[in-house]
Amino acid sequence: MELLELLTQTPSVPGRESRIRQVIADYLLQHQLVDELLTDAMGSLIGVRRPRPVPGQESPVPCKVMLAAHMDQIGFLVSHVSDDGYLRVTPAGGFDTRNLFARRVRVCTSAGDLPGVMNPAGKPIHISTPEERKKVPEIEEFFIDLGLPGADVKSRVKIGDMVVLDGPFAAVGQSVVSQCLDNRVGCWAQIRALEQLRHHACEIHAAWTVQEEVGLRGAIPAAYHVQPDIGVACDTTLCCKTPGVPDEQRVSVAGDGVCLHVMDSSAIADLDLIEQIEAVAQRQGIKCQRAILPRGGQDGAAIQRSRRGVRIAVFACPIKYIHTVAEMAHRDDLDAYYKLLAAWLETL
Ligand SMILES: [Zn+2]
Repeated sequence: MELLELLTQTPSVPGRESRIRQVIADYLLQHQLVDELLTDAMGSLIGVRRPRPVPGQESPVPCKVMLAAHMDQIGFLVSHVSDDGYLRVTPAGGFDTRNLFARRVRVCTSAGDLPGVMNPAGKPIHISTPEERKKVPEIEEFFIDLGLPGADVKSRVKIGDMVVLDGPFAAVGQSVVSQCLDNRVGCWAQIRALEQLRHHACEIHAAWTVQEEVGLRGAIPAAYHVQPDIGVACDTTLCCKTPGVPDEQRVSVAGDGVCLHVMDSSAIADLDLIEQIEAVAQRQGIKCQRAILPRGGQDGAAIQRSRRGVRIAVFACPIKYIHTVAEMAHRDDLDAYYKLLAAWLETL
C-alpha cells in the first residue's frame, strides 16, 4: 500500500502530470518492469514490455496489448489572483461543489507548494440567514486563502498553477481512503500487474495517460502510437451500494472484486474479451463483477476508436464517494484487480 499512498499524495491535474509521471517512471526503472520507456508529446508515459514466453511457446507475431491508466486527477488551475491575495480557480474535471466547503488545498507553484484553504464566498453560520445557508454555490464562487499578504501571493502564484485538494491516505477497516483513488488505483494496478507477471507471449505497452478527466485526451495519440490489437483501460467506477441509493443504481459492490465494465457512456466493451477474462477469474479463484455505468467514460473509448478500431476491455475498481477527498476502495477489490489483470495477460 506504500506505493498507492505515494501515488495519491503526488499532485497532478490535467495538463500538469509531470510530478506523478516522474514517480511512476522512477518506480518502473528501479524495478526493471519495462524494457523501454518513453514520454509522448502530450506527456503520457508509455512502457514497453517485450514478450517473455515459456521456452518453446514463442509466437512469431505476438499480440500487442495496450494498457491505459490515466494519471491525472480532478483539480483546478488558478485563474485569478486578487490584490488582497485570494485565488480564484477554474476546475479541471468534474466536482460536486457540495464537497468543496472548508477544504484544505495545495497550490503548486514553480517555487514550491503552498498550503491553503478553499471556501465559497459568503458568511459563516452565525451571521447568515436560513435562506443563504440552503444555497449550493457554483464553482466560480469558491476562493482560496493562502494566509499570506496580497503582494506575497502575487509574487509567488501564477495563472495556470495547479491546485489539488489535500487529504491524507488512511486505512479504514477493510478499505483504504484517500483523495484521487480515481485513478491512482488504476496507475497502481498496472504497476502491480507488471510486477506479478511471469511468462507472457504478448507484447505489453503500458500507458499512464494524461488529461483523461477533461475528455480522454491523452489516450488518443497514445493509442495511435502503440497501434494495439487489444486495448485495456485501467480505471475506477462508481460504487453506490450505500444508504440513500436504490439498489438498481448501485453500479458495483465493494468487496465483490474488480469490475469489468460492460458499457459506460463512452464505450461498449468487447463481449468475447469480457468472457475470456471471466473464465480466467473463475479458473484462478479471483473475484470479479460486471458493471454498467450509465454516465462517465474512460480511456478505453479513445483506444477503441483509434485507427481501424480496437477491441477493448475495461477494468475498474469500485470506489465509494468518488470525486471527493475521501474516496474509499475495498482491499479485496484492489487485490483482485492486479491479480486478474496479470493472470489474463499471461494467457494472451
Ligand atoms: Zn477515472
